[in-house]
Amino acid sequence: MFKSNGRSHKFGFKALFVAVGLFTLAIASGTQAHAANDAPAANEIRLLSTPLDALDGITFAGAYGDDDVAYLSESLQMLNDKMPAWAEYIAQAKPLILSIDLTEGAHGRAAIAKCCLGERGVITFGHHFGTLADSSDPQSESPEARRITFLATLAHEVTHIRDQRAGKFLTKTDYKSCVAAEKSGLEKQLEFQQDALNAELSNNATSAQTYRAWLEQNVKAEARALKSRDLWNQYCGAFLG
Ligand SMILES: [Zn+2]
Repeated sequence: MFKSNGRSHKFGFKALFVAVGLFTLAIASGTQAHAANDAPAANEIRLLSTPLDALDGITFAGAYGDDDVAYLSESLQMLNDKMPAWAEYIAQAKPLILSIDLTEGAHGRAAIAKCCLGERGVITFGHHFGTLADSSDPQSESPEARRITFLATLAHEVTHIRDQRAGKFLTKTDYKSCVAAEKSGLEKQLEFQQDALNAELSNNATSAQTYRAWLEQNVKAEARALKSRDLWNQYCGAFLG
């Protein structure tokens, strides 16, 4: 879905074009997607492995469907099991509204964060969860690579929400303030992927080898990109006039 623009690195920050949003979001019905399952009878035993807790404090909006809710639930459950510090990092950003707006994706934006609508941090994804990949890089299409891409994007956006709640990077009105805000998000995104290299996210040895090769390459490319002016011009060049 994202076309490679022929530059040096295959995927990563260029494709994951993420921004702090300045637009107003129309929240659809604000439905709690898991509400139907959320109230067990008083005498019902709730299994510890239930993923429902991971979705507590998250409201869905926009073009989301059951598949998106299931994908998020699975992904947060995987974080709980394999990268618990990151599960906590994301949980601390609640309450959240997670929205999907495919027109943002059509404009090349993976996700946008807005803080806040009342108490809630708003993150709008431009694609259905777990579908973002680089069409020029087949390795980015594997289930593990898609999962990591989705969660790294979520970590990036959650960082914007956390930063703004903490009173940091409240204005993004010129090149300098834009770079400061984005640097915070992009560094967390990279840190997440570096930590994912130390976690075992696949039970299948062959696919593990494939996604790890992709991830190692991606981490190197993104670490390089963070030091390049090209990256900042891509994110914040609009402020240079
Ligand atoms: Zn950002």
